[in-house]
Amino acid sequence: MKNLNYEKNIKIDEKDALIIVDMQNDFLPGGSLPVEDGDLIIEEINMTAKKFKKSGGFVVLTQDWHPKNHLSFASNHQGRNPGDEFMSEDGAIGPVLWPDHCVQNTKGAEFHKNLKLDLSDKIIQKGMNPNVDSYSGFQDNDKKSETGLRDYLESINIKRIFVCGLALDYCCYYTAMDGVDFGYEVYFLVDLTRGIDVPEGNIKNALENMINKDIKFANKVSFK
Ligand SMILES: [Zn+2]
Repeated sequence: MKNLNYEKNIKIDEKDALIIVDMQNDFLPGGSLPVEDGDLIIEEINMTAKKFKKSGGFVVLTQDWHPKNHLSFASNHQGRNPGDEFMSEDGAIGPVLWPDHCVQNTKGAEFHKNLKLDLSDKIIQKGMNPNVDSYSGFQDNDKKSETGLRDYLESINIKRIFVCGLALDYCCYYTAMDGVDFGYEVYFLVDLTRGIDVPEGNIKNALENMINKDIKFANKVSFK
């Protein structure tokens, strides 16, 4: 992505964690909520994960993991369709409704077969409460309960997190923003994400908000 300032000479060490967000079949081409070209980032994510492991860093996967009756699904609202605008009063669901996706124990919820799971230190699941969505890898959308990611990162003394995966303007974005609020130095690996841009302009807004939040951007040439 152009017009972003990329950091240079980043040296990964044991205080760094790569957060790979939701690289699951339903978010990839052929899935129920596919992110265009999402499959094109898998190989580079694997290589980046390898680099983290080699340098003493950690690798965490997040996994969207919904019950069938999850209220983010349009199918659970009478007369609503995927993509319809919908915002619950407490901010727990919305701003749009989604097709059924990442239902627990289905093929769609599994990680893509090419993602190297053996490089990961931890899997954090989210979105299990049917009444609340969890875009962020850290916490539910209503900010009332956490996923365990922060506890895990604290337990291994992580100071910097590097966010990649799907989708840029939802789960990656919210994970990065919460990362700052929870006191981490946050890097967004923008080339290792793809966005959905729903509603239109959403990617641009997400990038602007992250710039204003002092999130740093990195790509593969950023690393030593
Ligand atoms: Zn979801």
